[in-house]
Amino acid sequence: MTTQETLFSKIIRKEIPADIVYEDDLALAFRDIHPQAPAHILVIPKQPIAKLADAESEDHALMGHLLLTVKRVAEQLGLSNGYRVVINSGSDGGQTVDHLHLHILGGRQMKWPPG
Ligand code: 5GP
Repeated sequence: MTTQETLFSKIIRKEIPADIVYEDDLALAFRDIHPQAPAHILVIPKQPIAKLADAESEDHALMGHLLLTVKRVAEQLGLSNGYRVVINSGSDGGQTVDHLHLHILGGRQMKWPPG
């Protein structure tokens, strides 16, 4: 299932500004506007899948690409001591923007469990 227009679609089209750290044909990575760690990046597919729960088997290559994009961006940012990857899916997951996104959080010690 694909989603309706969100502000992330506007960021992809460069209609609203974002601090973009990586881009290719399938994915975009940019700094979160309300960072929860010294490094807080969002990796999104250009294809507007609303949430992880809506991904289909035909999206498997894209899903792999997003994870490898996380790895690439983390290396680019120098997060050699580690980082956390978070996907909030749906209401109980705490998702607030209905366009699939992977949070990369790094630059500080993470705690467990998350809230
Ligand atoms: P969620 O809560 O859906 O997992 O994460 C959405 C994230 O998008 C939040 O961390 C929020 O700070 C970020 N965000 C919301 N609006 C904007 C925006 O206009 N620009 C950027 N760069 N990040 C945004």
